[in-house]
Order: sequence, then structure tokens, then C-alpha cells
Amino acid sequence: MNIILLGPPGAGKGTQAKRIEERHGPVQLSTGDMLRSAIRAGSPLGQRAKPIMDAGKLVPDEILIDMIAERIALPDCARGFILDGFPRTVVQAEALDHMLARIGKKLDHVIEMRVDEAALVERITGRFTCAKCGTGYHDRYKQPKVQGVCDVCGAKEFTRRADDTAEAMKTRLAAYHAQTAPILPYYRSTGLYSAVDGMAEIDEVTRQIDAVLAKPPPVRLGDIPKPIKVAPRRRTEETEGA
Ligand code: AMP
Repeated sequence: MNIILLGPPGAGKGTQAKRIEERHGPVQLSTGDMLRSAIRAGSPLGQRAKPIMDAGKLVPDEILIDMIAERIALPDCARGFILDGFPRTVVQAEALDHMLARIGKKLDHVIEMRVDEAALVERITGRFTCAKCGTGYHDRYKQPKVQGVCDVCGAKEFTRRADDTAEAMKTRLAAYHAQTAPILPYYRSTGLYSAVDGMAEIDEVTRQIDAVLAKPPPVRLGDIPKPIKVAPRRRTEETEGA
């Protein structure tokens, strides 16, 4: 089962992708996580991406396209994949169509997590994770059971993402509207598309996603990649300096 999760930053894509992985088997491919591990490793790619990510802007398309093309070809993706954070631009969506056609894979579901954007800043600025096992917490909604100690692994160190600030969030939402939202009409027209209520309780969102995944994917004729028609057409590089 090959799935795309769409939605603005803070919609809960990462949380739900992990749950889909646990419950149904496809592997979570989070481009944000891949970039953050490149930053931690201090690789040239990580060094290039860090200031862009910290500012809340999008990393250039060619980097992300190469990254996903390499990752999707690895053997573990044979059990299916969940794209979390990709594609984020029209150029990436078109490249994804072509790379899937090239390796003989198809998408089964595209799920948009709809959210009330007014609530996103609070969701994002309150989140933190265990530095050791990566379990996610929130200042207001999900504190560890024992203050300062991870429920899962007992570690006492926690981290916050450098781009989980109100300032960077403004830029991330602007990037979502300018560059990612234009891909939605394309996926809505494919017959693979479903929407879930990303403002519902986490378990209810999971239930809605499970209901979508239980539906058989539509029969697809042809599957020849077509160019995605959107206007205006913007590339990552054009808005990078904005
Ligand atoms: P995320 O963890 O998905 O919120 O992504 C964090 C940051 O990584 C984004 O704000 C971008 O700077 C960068 N990023 C992740 N995925 C992409 C993508 N598909 N295209 C461009 N930049 C990305």
C-alpha cells in the first residue's frame, strides 16, 4: 500500500504516518526527518538545508526529488510506503509521478489532513520530543507522566525543533499555501484522494484514516504520468529568497 499524507505543518502527518506504519506495514518516509538526520550527521546536504529549514522555507526541489528517488528504491519500500512531507511542490509531484512510473509502482491513497490553521501555531510551538527515542510530547496536550522523564525510554533529555517557532511557522504556512496547496486539485482529481478531519482527537483521526485505507483503491486505466496543470506555477527556488 503506497500512501501520500498531505496537510500543512502541524496537521499531524508524522504522528499518523507512524501509526499507519505500525498498524498496516508500509514504511514512513518523512523528508523532514531525513533532512534533520542529514543535519545531525553534518553532511554537506545537511549544512545546505539547515538555514533554509530553520527559516521555515522549502529546500530546493532537486535535493528532495533525488532523496526520495533513492529512498523509494530501497528494498523495505516493497512493503509499501507513506510519504510524509513529500511532495510539497508541483515540480515534486510531477517528479513523483515519473519516478513511480519508472519503477513500476502506483499510489493507492492520497489523504489530506484538514486543519484549522488558527490552532496550528499553538500545536507546533508546544511540541517537543525525547532526545533518545523520539517520542513526541506537547506542553499543553501531552506532558510525560513523570515530569522531565520520557514515558517510553526513561531518558531525561528533550529537544525542540529549531523551526517550531511562531516566526518560522508563519513562513512554513506561507510556503504551504504558495507551493504545496496548488498540488491538491491534481490529487483530488485522481480518484485516490480522501480527506480526514485533522482537528479531531488523535485516535479519531487514526480511525478515519483506517476507514480510508479499508476502501479498495479505484481501478486505474493507463497510469501514464501527465503534467499537472496549475496556475500560477511557482518553483521552490523563486520563493526561496522571499
Ligand atoms: P517537516 O518535518 O515535514 O515539517 O519538514 C521540515 C522542513 O524540512 C520544511 O519546513 C522544509 O524546510 C524541509 N522539507 C521537508 N520536506 C520538504 C519537501 N518535500 N520539499 C522542500 N522542503 C522540505
